[in-house]
Amino acid sequence: MQDKIKKFADMINECSNIVFFGGAGVSTESGICDYRSKNGLYNTVKEYDVTPETILSHSFFFQSPDVFYDFYRKYFIVDALPNNAHKALVELEALNKLSAVITQNIDGLHQKAGSKNVIELHGTAGEYSCSKCKRKATTSVVLDDIKSKKIPLCTACGGIIKPKVVLYEEPLYNGVAESAISHIENADMLIVGGTSLAVYPAASFIRYFRGKYIVIINKTETDYDSNADLAIHESIGKVFAEVMKIIKK
Ligand SMILES: [Zn+2]
Repeated sequence: MQDKIKKFADMINECSNIVFFGGAGVSTESGICDYRSKNGLYNTVKEYDVTPETILSHSFFFQSPDVFYDFYRKYFIVDALPNNAHKALVELEALNKLSAVITQNIDGLHQKAGSKNVIELHGTAGEYSCSKCKRKATTSVVLDDIKSKKIPLCTACGGIIKPKVVLYEEPLYNGVAESAISHIENADMLIVGGTSLAVYPAASFIRYFRGKYIVIINKTETDYDSNADLAIHESIGKVFAEVMKIIKK
């Protein structure tokens, strides 16, 4: 492990336009459930008549918003704190080494840690708007409704308030994919963390990379490990904590 950390640090020192591409594994170390792992939501949540994937779909949201928000309240409204991976990415951005964090997570932990340029592929659980008139809703008011088991409704038109997250059956938000691809195309180093790259669109994005080094950090092996310049199968928080000790020297 220490050899790999040293190699990782050398690569970071050599590069000045690093992009981080992260998945659920970045947040699990902050105590947030992932989706597809053995202990993830898709394998453990059995309390509903339908699967979590169905609950998280556009059509189901409008069909049964009460069930959607029950699920959302239990699994998506969590008080989590950024971990060492989030913190290291803030430091790399401040050192002018990192140009963007691209994340599949909706928990806002990168911004909470202090990252400035964060591209949220699947939106954010921190913003809400009316599904009918599109008016923005006040997050604290919406959260109070959800926590007291009420479906949040628009104060202007009565429409159902929807979190700004990309549900199944929905396209990505305008410009988000383009922005992610443009950063990846211009990067000299791509760090892929906490994702097995098995799910669209993650795998399709990294094909745009033409820079020097691809580093993959994931607890388990991925299909892309053989294409990477370095693959580390370890806790991402631990890897970043160790590598930053060397970078900051
Ligand atoms: Zn409305």
